[in-house]
Amino acid sequence: MDFQKLVDVYEELENTASGNKMREILSDFFKEVPEEDIAIVSYLTLGRLASEYESVVLGMAEKIALKAVSLAGGVDSSKVKQTLGEMGDAGLVAEKLLKKKPITLVPVGKLTIHDLFSGLHKIAEASGSGSQDMKINTLAAMLQKVSSGGAKYLVRIALGTLRMGVGDMTVLDSLAIAFTGEKKNKAILERAYNFCPDVGIIAETLAKKGLKGVKKIEVKVGRPIKMMLCQRVGKIAEIADKIPGKIAVDEKYDGERLQVHKVNGEITLFSRRMEEVTLQFPDVVEYLQKQVKGKDFIVEGEVVAISEEGKALPFQVLMRRRRKHDVEEYVAKIPVCLFLFDLLYLNGKSYLDKPYLERMTALEKIVKKGEHLTLTKTIVTEDVDEVEKFFNESLQQGYEGIIAKSTAPESIYKPGTRGWLWIKWKKEYVQEMQDTFDLVVIGAFLGKGRRAGVYGALLLAAYNKKEDVFESVTKCGTGFTDAVLGELPQRLGKYKMDRQPARVKVKKEMAPEVWFEPQVVVEVLGAEITRSPIHICAVKDGKGLAIRFPRFIQFRDDKNPEQATTSKEMESIYEN
Ligand code: ATP
Repeated sequence: MDFQKLVDVYEELENTASGNKMREILSDFFKEVPEEDIAIVSYLTLGRLASEYESVVLGMAEKIALKAVSLAGGVDSSKVKQTLGEMGDAGLVAEKLLKKKPITLVPVGKLTIHDLFSGLHKIAEASGSGSQDMKINTLAAMLQKVSSGGAKYLVRIALGTLRMGVGDMTVLDSLAIAFTGEKKNKAILERAYNFCPDVGIIAETLAKKGLKGVKKIEVKVGRPIKMMLCQRVGKIAEIADKIPGKIAVDEKYDGERLQVHKVNGEITLFSRRMEEVTLQFPDVVEYLQKQVKGKDFIVEGEVVAISEEGKALPFQVLMRRRRKHDVEEYVAKIPVCLFLFDLLYLNGKSYLDKPYLERMTALEKIVKKGEHLTLTKTIVTEDVDEVEKFFNESLQQGYEGIIAKSTAPESIYKPGTRGWLWIKWKKEYVQEMQDTFDLVVIGAFLGKGRRAGVYGALLLAAYNKKEDVFESVTKCGTGFTDAVLGELPQRLGKYKMDRQPARVKVKKEMAPEVWFEPQVVVEVLGAEITRSPIHICAVKDGKGLAIRFPRFIQFRDDKNPEQATTSKEMESIYEN
């Protein structure tokens, strides 16, 4: 397939802010895509080259991409620099400067999707000496074969800044419509996606084998599974209503969730966002190799930063281990402990459909406990007073609270599901009317007075999963330290947009001064949820839910935007 077909779709997508319209554009397009191209096209509509877990990340430096533009168009580099100064976006620079290519440089032929894909892979995977020239030449050769509109998108893809506003769920919706004629079949695609969070594989299976094939997608060791999540309740006593019978109560640690896969003797670690984080935790890999038996397995746990005395430290301390450089130095500076709490696969057998206690028994058998890798502390009880006592002890240990888990025969591991089989109870819930929310930054207001020159407040949204949109829920201007305020422009800058992003819903009165593509997740503490005419979350009779007196707590780099608090959760907390 010719890349130009995709370029036409990008153009249409760029001109719409409506999620429904996007789905329509995409599903019409998917119908025309040949089977062998559908996986590639699915990734490219997301501006990616592979699923998130494969770590094939494009993010060419702007300077290098512009050198390719200069080479492709035979344009002097000073002219390229000047145009960038005028337009501010490398994609637009490419579009403008490559309108007329010098005849001598125009090669014959078109750029197919496959050529584009392999060219971009070559660029993403290049490293070492000579790689810079190779990247420039590869991109320039592709730029020469595309229209000026194509050059704009090609440069943006190479920079990792395509930002069409399309998310994985948008693609799944559109695939369901394109290949089955019915949006409701997305539920089947979503189930498969929870076992295999790779839109490319799902798209190709659907195109080649239909829904029947998609239904057969199962767990595969080495490929991450969407993690099972917790519900919350309004009162601790409600835990017993939701989980009748014996409750397993775990300590809840304030760290980062890790899903560990061992296959062919090799350990791979995945984060909550399905990113591979193995290189960040060489120490954890070593503990797992030494202390967990099994030819192949998938286990889950929470990795927590600990002090020299072995005391748990807050999440922010662990976040300092999120780095590509000086890893060894930080392994020594910030030691960690991995608390394992689930087993999903062992020696060729899936445990996903086994009840919780059976999974735990299997886990206990393969783990040798130690200072840096151990099992989560758990009790099993039917008595809510015992649950509360365990909760208080957990707080005394410096932990966040507890997670109550069902032990009933149906207490299976449900990938990607936030259900009543697991319920969290945290210290914030005990402080009256206070709850924390993980919200997505969709805009900012410029600071005044002491905050002149930086952002004064952020506009935050909850995720409406059903409609696959981000709905404004609060404007947050407190809780920021000077360091965080200083950091915001740099953190958010790469997601800045000159218009309201697609899939973002805001009332006119709340329109921010700066828009951001929904990417960054922050945790805020709120005093109260009310109905307000200026927000749009779970709107009813013209009034949306709004969080009053929000206070910034921290960045949640471990979450992607679709993992933020949902509008439905907001509703249930409000009703509580
Ligand atoms: P929070 O913001 O409360 O940490 P969350 O939104 O990240 O929660 P939840 O599903 O609400 O996610 O809470 C579950 C998370 O708690 C898990 O993803 C995991 O990272 C962490 N956790 C800590 N201890 C445990 C445990 N014993 N069992 C399961 N999850 C645990």
